Amino acid sequence: GLFAPWRNMLLWKQIVVGLVLGIVVGCVLNMTGNAAIAGTIKYIGTVFLSLIKMLIVPLIFVSLVCGMASIGDIARMGRIGLKAIVFYLLTTAFAITIGLVLGTLFQPGVGIDLGTAVAMEAKAAPSFLDQLVAIVPKNPIAAAADGKVLQIIFFAILFGLSINLVGEVGKPVRDFFESLNSVVLKLTEIVISFAPYGVFALMAWVAGTYGLDLLLPLGTVIAALYIGCVLHAIFVYGGLITALGRLNPVRFFQGIVEPQIVAFTSTSSSGTLPVTMTAVQKNLGVNRSVASFTLPLGATINMDGTAMYQGVAALFVAQAFGVDLGMSEYVTIILTATLASIGTAGVPGAGLVMLSLVLSSVGLPLEGVAIIAGIDRILDMARTSLNVTGDAACTVLIAKSENELELAAYDKPHVLEAAS
Ligand code: ASP
Repeated sequence: GLFAPWRNMLLWKQIVVGLVLGIVVGCVLNMTGNAAIAGTIKYIGTVFLSLIKMLIVPLIFVSLVCGMASIGDIARMGRIGLKAIVFYLLTTAFAITIGLVLGTLFQPGVGIDLGTAVAMEAKAAPSFLDQLVAIVPKNPIAAAADGKVLQIIFFAILFGLSINLVGEVGKPVRDFFESLNSVVLKLTEIVISFAPYGVFALMAWVAGTYGLDLLLPLGTVIAALYIGCVLHAIFVYGGLITALGRLNPVRFFQGIVEPQIVAFTSTSSSGTLPVTMTAVQKNLGVNRSVASFTLPLGATINMDGTAMYQGVAALFVAQAFGVDLGMSEYVTIILTATLASIGTAGVPGAGLVMLSLVLSSVGLPLEGVAIIAGIDRILDMARTSLNVTGDAACTVLIAKSENELELAAYDKPHVLEAAS
């Protein structure tokens, strides 16, 4: 029929079409004074986002339990966790550095009028020990209800390990979880097949609401961050995938188009998690035992885009207020932005809240947050995409180093098809 070409199109192509059509429709609505219609279209996007968020808790829990039950080696889990944390921290420090360099080159804050700034209060940094202790859940059901990813990971690892330790008696539980896993994956596939429509709606809403005139005054900040994100993705991730992983970087980027676009439009790396999990396993051949552990961990603590954004934004504020920063301030920004990005939740706009922490660490006026707030959604789209790309890159590299990457699948991506 008429829609056959659309229905036969690969999912990632449908998603790209949704993205482009969304921008076009949104811009037209904005220019014709119909931003309200864009606001109505957004409901489709909201439904799509709720659908993926609905999957987060069951998907993380079930796949991690299955992953643990099939390897069941706590030492190996510890090794994978350590590798992930080292990779996550190093790439994050790199990202802020790129942000600082671009902020220095682009001078985005020069010539900005700060007359309308409002007073803000800094967010207090949670203590490291408090955060560490909080990973142990008092109540796993409460952890699941509140979507506390690190707590869910903790419980799932011990639960899966115990299935292994009990031996033969644990077999019904293991079989049950394997079967549940297939069901949850099917559900994920169905939900992801709605991505083109959700992406279209969210894009039409952003373009319709912001339009071009709102973007131009702060265009340099936007440009600096977008260029930084692209450079970081290509050189840092692409470079590591090539040099460390000895893998074709082009395949990597092809394989993660779906999560990147969903991250771009949803601005939530936690919300994108089900899409990222599916993509690295189906498109890139990563074994579930690695993906089910490193991706939820990454979505919670690894935010390279957020860290870079904080570097760019801090320089923007310094320039806008005419404050000169020295070498020691730069180092302080690198350290606090790394910590702030770890503490940032993978939800829309969280990075903006944590920006106050970075600004106050070097004595910059917090009013800067208010100026950035006006365009934060646009910045959030880029940083969230980079956040998700970083989680996927780390996952692929660790899988490769653990011999858990199926090379035949890696070299032949895009099995993800529209499930309609
Ligand atoms: N929205 C980002 C994410 O979910 C976090 C941030 O606001 O920087 O990854």
